[in-house]
Amino acid sequence: MKQNFPILSQKVNGKELIYFDNAATCQKPISVVQKIDEYYQETNSNIHRGAHFLANKATEEYEAAREYTAKFLGAEKSSLINFVRGTTEAINLVAYAFGDKFIGKDDEIIISELEHHSNIVPWQMLCERTGAKLRVIPINDIGELNYEVYAELLSEKTKLVSINYVSNALGTINDVETIIEKAHAVGAKVFLDGAQAAPHLKVNVQELDCDFFAFSAHKVYGPTGIGVLYGKEDVLNAMNPFHGGGEMIETVTFEKTTYNKLPYKFEAGTPNICGVIAMAEALKFVDEIGIENIAKHENDLLEYATEKMQTIEGMTFYGTSKNKSGVISFLIDGIHPYDLGVLLDKQGIAIRTGHHCTQPLMNKLQIEGTCRASFAIYNTKEEVDVFIKALNRAVLMLK
Ligand code: PLP
Repeated sequence: MKQNFPILSQKVNGKELIYFDNAATCQKPISVVQKIDEYYQETNSNIHRGAHFLANKATEEYEAAREYTAKFLGAEKSSLINFVRGTTEAINLVAYAFGDKFIGKDDEIIISELEHHSNIVPWQMLCERTGAKLRVIPINDIGELNYEVYAELLSEKTKLVSINYVSNALGTINDVETIIEKAHAVGAKVFLDGAQAAPHLKVNVQELDCDFFAFSAHKVYGPTGIGVLYGKEDVLNAMNPFHGGGEMIETVTFEKTTYNKLPYKFEAGTPNICGVIAMAEALKFVDEIGIENIAKHENDLLEYATEKMQTIEGMTFYGTSKNKSGVISFLIDGIHPYDLGVLLDKQGIAIRTGHHCTQPLMNKLQIEGTCRASFAIYNTKEEVDVFIKALNRAVLMLK
């Protein structure tokens, strides 16, 4: 598998590169890299407006990518797939286009202690604009949501529940079915931040019955700067537009503008055409392997690595739910995460250290940050063995 990923064949600091920073962004298979190359060598054109060969070719590939993405997510129609820059933009889009229209003073938005900053700050900004209030589901000591408190937080004031499906910092897989069912029972909409779910779990937005779902291509073997916002048709249709400009309009006069239908309503300006086409190639890569096989491989690595890491003196794991993805967040007594990260890098191993864009979660855990190793389809048990040796060596040097 590793040979499918050209970047992984390089040496870092004279050592074989071991890339365990997949929750931040994962590497791209050759098929995706070639697709980007092919696009600029054979296809590049602006889309939708042209009468010429390249315009038609680019438009066809772009819209085929939308169809593919809709199938990947189990969406009812491809017009419910809105291309955005990534999960962050999707959340901001909904905060403005849905939030400003449907959420008012003293209404409530529920998030959780597990959220990434991108699923906190846009809602805080919305609350500042509207006078709505943010409510937060706490976690227990193994990093799972407290569903009893969630049930108590819900009321007729709740207008939106926005939750990550899988936590990037701890790996916890949330019980989103329960979250959605309970939210709908009080008439609230649900936004699922799928940034860490799309790479590891089979997603079917219709079965989940979520109102919104977002993910970023770069965490699913695709390029950066492109992602998806799915929304239910009636909800998307009822929303305000987000960005104004070309493509999102039907007619424009100086007196009044009418807006285009879905999905163009939310795709103002020239989009990341190459990114969309390359993202679909990445989703094909995932489908060819089978997301269940990817998940199984990563779970095997998770179990294998966790067991070996337990033997290291002073090891503490953060997030130990049975239901978690291939993320290991940890600290070793007396060692600063950054120092450990730098020493591992010297041995060619890439992990992430810090707060993982989850400062409120780190505050809750009363730590500044953690070291995080996260796995993808190209990682191996042999790499885990090298990682464990490198960890032991680093501990000897730093303690
Ligand atoms: N939500 C979660 C759970 C994430 O892990 C991330 C990225 O790390 C994001 C949102 C933001 O994604 P992006 O930076 O691609 O917009």
